[in-house]
Amino acid sequence: MKSGKRAHLSLADSSSEEGPLTGPVEDYLKAIYGLGRGSVSVATNDIARQLDLAPASVSGMVRRLADQGLLTYERYRGVTLTNLGRRAALRTLRRHRVIEAYLSGALHYPWDRVHDEAERLEHAASDELVDRMAAAIGEPATDPHGAPIPSREGHMDETEYLSLAELGAGYGARVVRVSDDDPEMLRYLGELEIMPGAEIVVISKAPYEGPITLRVSGTLLSIGPALASQVMVEPLTDMEAPAH
Ligand SMILES: [Zn+2]
Repeated sequence: MKSGKRAHLSLADSSSEEGPLTGPVEDYLKAIYGLGRGSVSVATNDIARQLDLAPASVSGMVRRLADQGLLTYERYRGVTLTNLGRRAALRTLRRHRVIEAYLSGALHYPWDRVHDEAERLEHAASDELVDRMAAAIGEPATDPHGAPIPSREGHMDETEYLSLAELGAGYGARVVRVSDDDPEMLRYLGELEIMPGAEIVVISKAPYEGPITLRVSGTLLSIGPALASQVMVEPLTDMEAPAH
């Protein structure tokens, strides 16, 4: 075989020895992956906060997932996904993001309504259905919020971006990705045309967490730093920065 190692990491093979993973288990693995970007250790308290659960119930689940070989837990280090757990998390992320992209691209759902549908469908859709959905919309690289879609083989672009809140006054940037789980925030960002692909210039930043004034598509507007921190951007070089 040309690439035995890669074949071994196939996402289609990520269920545990006891059979397919349950929805709650997939949600845990996805949350741990998101918090630790796949490789960094994560505190159980952070998992509890992310999943809106009591820390005690998270500790119990973490022990069960460790028994299944999906993660390791060390008292002072926290939770780390094993290769098996990482593969399962990427498979769930692929299903979630392909479903979002399909709902948006093929069924014309607005971008604030795809996340909740995908949260339910990601545990039920087969790999074949998801692969056919991806093919039907031209194998997109990202979901409607700009999040990268893992490949069938389990590879994902892990580039980290600055948030708009971190960008200095006078800088231009292109929006790469926005946080996807708050429909109200997505509707608001949509109204402001702050969406992946949009070009933005930071005109000024008030001190002490004050408002940030932006130019978006020729319009001046202000947003708060909390909202700006949910928008990931790629700074533009001077050559391609939009005119002030
Ligand atoms: Zn989503």
